[in-house]
Amino acid sequence: MELGAKDPMAMMREFLREAGGCAVIDGGLATEMEANGADLKDALWSAKCLFTSPDLIKKVHLDYLEAGANILTTASYQATIQGFESRGFSREESEALLRRSVEIAYEARDIFQKRYLKGPQNADKKENTFKQRPILVAASVGSYGAYLADGSEYSGNYGEAVTLETLKDFHRRRLQVLSEAGADIIAFETIPNKLEAQVYAELLEECNIKIPAWFSFNSKDGINVVSGDSLIECVSIADSCENVVAIGINCTAPRNIHGLVLSIRKVTNKPILVYPNSGESYDADRKEWVASTDVSDEDFVSYVSRWHEAGALLIGGCCRTTPKTIRAILRALHKEDDVFKPDGIQI
Ligand SMILES: [Zn+2]
Repeated sequence: MELGAKDPMAMMREFLREAGGCAVIDGGLATEMEANGADLKDALWSAKCLFTSPDLIKKVHLDYLEAGANILTTASYQATIQGFESRGFSREESEALLRRSVEIAYEARDIFQKRYLKGPQNADKKENTFKQRPILVAASVGSYGAYLADGSEYSGNYGEAVTLETLKDFHRRRLQVLSEAGADIIAFETIPNKLEAQVYAELLEECNIKIPAWFSFNSKDGINVVSGDSLIECVSIADSCENVVAIGINCTAPRNIHGLVLSIRKVTNKPILVYPNSGESYDADRKEWVASTDVSDEDFVSYVSRWHEAGALLIGGCCRTTPKTIRAILRALHKEDDVFKPDGIQI
């Protein structure tokens, strides 16, 4: 299905209904590629794999589809024209790499769907529903801090020299390329401050972007976004943007999610999405995730029904979550109706 019709919100609600009331976003892409042997200690992080190992990206997308994801987020989080150019790629090549991130996700979806649509239909109706579920491709747009690769998307502090116009110039072309590449939705992820939310809202309008978008913020204290800017104000910006069909939180510790969902609910009626990290923290100097005493995979999943009850309709995982996490989220969301019961949940 396509979300890009006249009324983006109506299409999002239809997608959610077809997905059984709530949709499953995939899990960590970069960290899962590392688990599959990729070396991502690089300023381009997962975007490096767009030119070194596209097949590995496709494999991880497929693993998430097999686990039950309804939404694949592309490997473009840290893929920027500026970042590729600094590695010697031409402007055209850089834009082609961005488009490639969307194509790879569609190739994975096609493989997944052909695998089951062409094969013998299983007598188990529930299993067929699972295999024929709606799947969207979300083009990931990481923040300016992700491009800097100094961990500043976890502080939201870009310094005074970085203005609204600087950020608009930085993001404009990438946004155009990704939306023209045919993605179903643009995923603005790990938004660390109000300024960048404003930038995205203005660009969607100015560039006349035709496809829907989601805005996802990150928080350290469970109250505000990481820069200290008011989450309420950030969500209000997203809420007033016509293209935005879901608003939420990603790459944030699971223990903080419930309270954040309740806060978001007060400001918007749009669907809420959450895809927390595993609760570990990122060391920007070492470019490594540092284990903490926070939640384990099983504990992460124990939160899922609370998030759903609080109003989250799209749930997945960010850094350090795996296909195992996604499978467990799917089970937690649909345990009452024993896998899937489309139309069974009122949205
Ligand atoms: Zn993350």
